[in-house]
Amino acid sequence: MSNGFVLKRFSWKEEPEKISVQHLQKQALRELYLYYELPEEVKEYPSMVDRIMDVLTFFPDDNQPFWFKVFCPLCGWMSRLMTVSAPDFITSMRGQYINTVCRILGIHLKRKHKIYTSYTRWLAPHVPMTFFKCKECGYETNSLIEMLSHYVHEHHIKNPEKIDVTPRDTRITDIEQLYNFVRRYEPTESLTAQRIYSVKCNVCGEAKDFRAACSVADFGNNHIRKCGKLDISVLVTRKIKVET
Ligand SMILES: [Zn+2]
Ligand SMILES: [Zn+2]
Ligand SMILES: [Zn+2]
Repeated sequence: MSNGFVLKRFSWKEEPEKISVQHLQKQALRELYLYYELPEEVKEYPSMVDRIMDVLTFFPDDNQPFWFKVFCPLCGWMSRLMTVSAPDFITSMRGQYINTVCRILGIHLKRKHKIYTSYTRWLAPHVPMTFFKCKECGYETNSLIEMLSHYVHEHHIKNPEKIDVTPRDTRITDIEQLYNFVRRYEPTESLTAQRIYSVKCNVCGEAKDFRAACSVADFGNNHIRKCGKLDISVLVTRKIKVET
C-alpha cells in the first residue's frame, strides 16, 4: 500500500484496478447498501455473496494468491495478511473463506464500532449459530453480512446520493456484455421493488424505459437487426418500492 492506494482484484473483472482506500470504502458501502434492498432469496445467491466478499477483502500479493486482508467499509481499517481458518464442520474452501472474513470483520465491528450485540444458539451439540442484534434498532439476523448491510442502509448512510448508489450509465457493445448485464440484474428483480432501465441506442438514438433487464436484451437484439450493430447505453435506477 502506498499513498492510500491499493491494487484491487475484483472477481468480475480480469485486470486488477489501482484504487484509493477512500474509493474502496465508498464502493463497499454502495454494494452493502444495494445488497440490503435485494429480495431475501436473492441474498443467498453465491454471486451476490461474492460481490460483498469482493468489497470486504483484498488480495495484495500475486505471489501469495490465497492470502488476503479483510477491509472495514465503515472506517477503512485493514486486517493483517491472513489465509482461511475455520472450524472443521465447514468443509468447502469457499465456506471457510466467507466464515473467516466474517469472523475477522465481526470482531472489528463489535469492538471498534459497537454496532451490534451477538449471542450463540446451539442448533445441535456441535453446531453453534451466532445471532446479531442491531444496537440502534434491535433488528436481528444470523448473518453478519445482513447485519452490516442493515447498519449501512438504515443507520450509516444518511445521504444515499453521496455514495452514488445509482449505478452509472453502462455502455454495451457486444452480446456477451448484454448477457452479463441481464445475468447481473435479473436475479435481483422482484414485483415489490423495481428498477427502471433507461436504454438508448447510440446508433439511431431511440430511447426507452423498461422495468425488466430481459427487455433491455430484447431492445439490444432488435437494434442489432435494425441498426446493424449493438451499441446501447443503459442507466439503471436503484430499486423503488412499488405498492401492491
Ligand atoms: Zn471499522
Ligand atoms: Zn438497526
Ligand atoms: Zn438503433
